[in-house]
Amino acid sequence: MKFLKTAVLVIFTTLSFNLWAATEKKVLASVHPLALVAASVVNSDQLQTLLPAGTSPHDFALRPSDVDRLQEADVILWTGPVAEPYLSGFARRWPDKTWIDLSKLATPEQPRDPHYWLSVPVVLKAQAALADALGKDASEFARQVERAVLYSDQVLAPVKDRGFFVFHRAYDHWVYERGLNQVGAFTLTPEQKPGMRTLQMMRDQLRRGEVACVFREPEFSPALVISVVGDLPVKHGELDPLGAHIDLSSDGYPYFLRDLADRAVNCLSL
Ligand SMILES: [Zn+2]
Repeated sequence: MKFLKTAVLVIFTTLSFNLWAATEKKVLASVHPLALVAASVVNSDQLQTLLPAGTSPHDFALRPSDVDRLQEADVILWTGPVAEPYLSGFARRWPDKTWIDLSKLATPEQPRDPHYWLSVPVVLKAQAALADALGKDASEFARQVERAVLYSDQVLAPVKDRGFFVFHRAYDHWVYERGLNQVGAFTLTPEQKPGMRTLQMMRDQLRRGEVACVFREPEFSPALVISVVGDLPVKHGELDPLGAHIDLSSDGYPYFLRDLADRAVNCLSL
């Protein structure tokens, strides 16, 4: 009899546990930096990332297995139709899922750069919407991000006016919000080679000493940066708009912000 009671209890516990697991919502982040945001309120077993870390959304195409993962997800965090056109059709096809589109959370005075995960106000709104959809508390993330912003502004203050080139036009939100002096980009999107006039202008800016640092990106070959800069005396640094080197953890996104600031300071300081 005692054995039977235990067996019934075990079966019941297993059943209710499965039921609980099934009701936990599955979250899909389209790109790695959005997975860093989502990890603030989503356990790793309920969180998937569509594009592998280090994969740029430029020129990405979905495979059938990606469509399966999309279909399984309850909540999808994405950057909007400009940065991720491959998701637009699915957002229309499956309106019953919760789609959190970062581009819709921007204000009109913000830059139009589609890399919205680098805008702190947009990310805070997106994370709050995600927390709300999951019935979780967003305040700890907001506090951590606020501290990361304070840290960034503090360390960046002495180098704010020093000019730099970024590899591709991905950082406009960060540059605008932190008040930095970005004077150019080697490419508009990584697939596009710059024209002769742009290259000439960049060479002139470098020669006039308007550029203290040039940033490459780990996802792309630095050949273009090296050929433009030549042997001009300018520092080389690396920024990654995807934060591919940052592991998923509950404080991954605030760490990403601090890391960006540290990398910029390292290259921009004398
Ligand atoms: Zn990009």
